[in-house]
Amino acid sequence: MNSVTIPFLDLKAAYVELKGEIDAAVARVLDSGWYILGTEVEAFEQEFAGYCAAGHCVGLANGLDALHLGLRALDIGAGDEVIVPSNTYIASWLAISQCGATPVPVEPDPQTYNIDPARIEAAITHRTRAIMPVHLYGQPADLDAIVAIARRHGLRVIEDAAQAHGARYRGQRIGAHGDLVAWSFYPGKNLGAFGDAGAVTTNDAALAARVRVLRNYGSRVKYINDEAGWNSRLDPLQAAALRVKLMHLDDWNARRRTLANAYAQQLAGLDLQLPQVPDWAEPAWHLYVVQATDRESLQKRLAEHGIGSLIHYPIPPHRQQAYAAAGIAAGTLPIAEAMADRVLSLPLGPHLPTAAIAQIAAALRS
Ligand SMILES: *Cc1c(COP(=O)(O)O)cnc(C)c1O
Repeated sequence: MNSVTIPFLDLKAAYVELKGEIDAAVARVLDSGWYILGTEVEAFEQEFAGYCAAGHCVGLANGLDALHLGLRALDIGAGDEVIVPSNTYIASWLAISQCGATPVPVEPDPQTYNIDPARIEAAITHRTRAIMPVHLYGQPADLDAIVAIARRHGLRVIEDAAQAHGARYRGQRIGAHGDLVAWSFYPGKNLGAFGDAGAVTTNDAALAARVRVLRNYGSRVKYINDEAGWNSRLDPLQAAALRVKLMHLDDWNARRRTLANAYAQQLAGLDLQLPQVPDWAEPAWHLYVVQATDRESLQKRLAEHGIGSLIHYPIPPHRQQAYAAAGIAAGTLPIAEAMADRVLSLPLGPHLPTAAIAQIAAALRS
């Protein structure tokens, strides 16, 4: 029984549902004869800023660049420290390292999977410049608590919102709580392009202007370079496709929420830790992540029933070879390490039929 009957995520189904609109949007860009930045990118930037209730959006090449150029715009560099969750995707850490700064891990609340504000102040030193909360798996971090700590210590807040398009914190969409918010539109995200894409949103006009310069070779005026920048421009083909998909984001997030509610009902009573949602959080349900002590056998059982599952993430950043030089010993960050051993992401996406949840629950029970 090897043929997959319930895929972890069906990316093509999203294209099929919107094929007419997407094809027309892509053809519009090809017919325009304009293939770098331009009106299509500007239109997406305005529409996404509006969606997030943020003053500004700057379209970029990917989510890692959004974090990296966001940190650069905040003037974070060598000798600086940035507080980051111990249990995030490695991109959050890499963006900090790319600036020459040091990622300083803080452990999550094991119930919500997000950075635990009660642990942040102990990690602040005279070198700390910013806090980078990650809205992991689509659930917003406790932004009021984090912003209050940052204000008290004169720190910046740059949010990693790569997994949380459309999530709400205390009823308000995320996208402008911190100084800068970084987004990825990697195909598998809630708002996904047909290739790499990313953006930052902010209410700070000067920060937005700085990222705009950094993404385009440090240039405001063609062939006049004010600083040593990068090439990280949002592709107009991706912008055109994202404009179509943005119109369906709330609808698709609602479908994800229905599936998450079905999981909560159908998995109750199993020996699994289900995601806990604080009453102030409306997650975007990017992933449905359970924790289990016998994860390997559960994953095997799902596979035997043709059900896809993934692990986000099997190795925390501090235990990756990439961070060997940081010398953070095993056992130093026990919550992140326990999560890496226990987490399991179940199938979830706007095109997964609700009936599949009962099938998945039955397989887990078998
Ligand atoms: C996807 C992701 C990123 C990086 O986005 P890319 O577009 O792949 O560069 C950063 N942080 C988190 C939490 C992510 O899930």
